[in-house]
Amino acid sequence: SQAEAEAVLSGLDDEQRTAAQAVSGPVCILAGAGTGKTRTITHRIAYGVHTGTYVPEQVLAVTFTARAAGELRSRLAGLGVGGVQARTFHAAAMRQLRYFAPRVLGGPMPSLIENKLRVVASAATRNRLTTDRTSLRDLASEIEWAKTTLATPEDYAARAKAAGRDTPFEPAAVAAVYESYESAKQRDGSLDFEDLLLVTAYALEEHQDVARQVRAQYRHFVVDEYQDVNPLQQRLLDAWLGGRAELCVVGDPNQTIYSFTGANPDYLLGFADRYPDAEVVKLERDYRSTPQVVGLANKLIGMAPRRKGLPGLRLLGQRPEGAEPRFAEYPDEPAEAAAVAARCRALIDEGLPAAEIAVLFRINAQSEVYENALAAAGVPYVLKGGERFFERPEVREAVLLLRGAAAGGNDPGMLVPAVRDVLASTGWAEHRPPPGGAARDRWQSLAALVDLAVDLVAENPSLDLAGFVTHLAERADQQHAPTVQGVTLASMHAAKGLEWDVVFVVGLVEGVLPIAQSFSKPDAVEEERRLLYVAITRAREQLTLSWSLSRNPGGRRSRPRSQFLTGLAPESGPTAPPARRPAKRPKVVLEGEAGELFERLRTWRSQAAQSASVPAYVVFTDATLQAIAESRPANLRELAGLPGIGAKKLE
Ligand code: ATP
Ligand code: MG
Repeated sequence: SQAEAEAVLSGLDDEQRTAAQAVSGPVCILAGAGTGKTRTITHRIAYGVHTGTYVPEQVLAVTFTARAAGELRSRLAGLGVGGVQARTFHAAAMRQLRYFAPRVLGGPMPSLIENKLRVVASAATRNRLTTDRTSLRDLASEIEWAKTTLATPEDYAARAKAAGRDTPFEPAAVAAVYESYESAKQRDGSLDFEDLLLVTAYALEEHQDVARQVRAQYRHFVVDEYQDVNPLQQRLLDAWLGGRAELCVVGDPNQTIYSFTGANPDYLLGFADRYPDAEVVKLERDYRSTPQVVGLANKLIGMAPRRKGLPGLRLLGQRPEGAEPRFAEYPDEPAEAAAVAARCRALIDEGLPAAEIAVLFRINAQSEVYENALAAAGVPYVLKGGERFFERPEVREAVLLLRGAAAGGNDPGMLVPAVRDVLASTGWAEHRPPPGGAARDRWQSLAALVDLAVDLVAENPSLDLAGFVTHLAERADQQHAPTVQGVTLASMHAAKGLEWDVVFVVGLVEGVLPIAQSFSKPDAVEEERRLLYVAITRAREQLTLSWSLSRNPGGRRSRPRSQFLTGLAPESGPTAPPARRPAKRPKVVLEGEAGELFERLRTWRSQAAQSASVPAYVVFTDATLQAIAESRPANLRELAGLPGIGAKKLE
């Protein structure tokens, strides 16, 4: 309705609104981190639906990770919109291909290859190449790069040379492995991830009936994080569009972090050339982070060499002042990890939900030392986030068992005990989380299912087990993982598009960030800088950047800190502030008139660092939240994230 449409627009600033109201024709939003690109596309979709321009089922929104797709869907649900398809390129392609496989491939959907490295290894052996773990991984990356940039085994060698690829073997040898790899898959009748997109694009390009059907189904397209689209994804997008221009893309060229695997920001930068009648919107106001974080992000990007044709995208902080970013140097990695874990522990004790904290690292090998430290400090953490939640073996097994129990039909209502009983039968012990490692991950997946059941039953007390199982099936289909509680441990790549109140960016040493393989390639070093930009712009309130001089305790070799810190961090000297244990600060239940509350909270905020009389956390009653939401809806988030003060809702 018109009223709903107006309400959707009221959550946007002028520039965002311009983009949201441009519901038809090509639209491009080019803007920095935290400026509300993702928010604008969700509001644009909601506006299109509420004004009757879009049928929700005809909108396809593509994002980069399953988690981001889930985020889009929940934001849309919050705006009163259901039925929109929000998926990754892979998930969207998979769904279409499964449907069209009999027509296009003459049989059922082929299986996905399970162990890609093994197939690459035997292809290498067949070509008499001796590989080790590193060269095998590099071979697999080269094949992936070739496929995402649409290079065939025939053009690979020339293309790799032109692109200055650092190949593990002679380009001709890599091409031969690529060719053998492709034929091995063909023999098995299996597909890899790139094939999913390629075959789907092919189906649309070559089968008019398929194209007609898909294009009749999807009429409006939205792509988030478009700076990282690769030629293969672009080809699929073009196949979906079939010459139409009902497309909205949003991206930030400074967040291009996949160009070494084939992504190309020129699709974003050249959008207006390709669609001369495009509505191009630039956003500058940063709504996510404190001015201190925004300042650091601007400084970092300001030090990058100017790229030709790149619009200057600065960020103007909109949020109230916060804490200065911290820089901390440690003697070794375990000490760095222990300090991060101690700080997490303190924040959680002060009332900050663990899910509002993230620890971001460059390479997955760094994760283990943080897992150990967090486990030792008793801090719950999540490693994978929601990624492929419903494909995890323990979740699949649990869903099967729940389905069986529901079919048994011996429980009229649910409350959650039925779910606990079923999970307990697998050996899951609710009150005994394993300390760490894979066992802990499994435990947490199941705990997330119970939490979800608790939430759903709170919303709908008459929900029964069968209803819960149906709900799980719907979520699985949409890859909509439930929230797994805990501090997020993630790679900087995986953190893209997400945000947390408190972010620790760790391991900032030469050879890790920038990664050693990039040293000889200036373009690759710049991509590493952008990766750091992505990492630091995830923080809403507090940001800590840290590094350690040696990998192991007592290590002699001193590692230089990251070159990107030059100009950002103090030159030298003791930079690690001692962990400040707050004195016993009181807990305060907040009630009252919204304006007055704001004043009190502001005062507290400005004193949070110095005064022991500032509450450790405030508890909002429902009435308070209601009052705030009515008078200053945009500030609700701000209040909930006071630096140095925890906040939670009265139970
Ligand atoms: P990234 O480049 O990191 O993906 P983004 O441009 O997509 O960032 P969003 O995630 O959409 O940014 O927004 C960042 C934060 O700012 C979110 O919490 C969002 O709700 C908030 N925000 C954006 N625009 C507004 C606005 N007009 N009013 C209030 N909050 C806003
Ligand atoms: Mg975004």
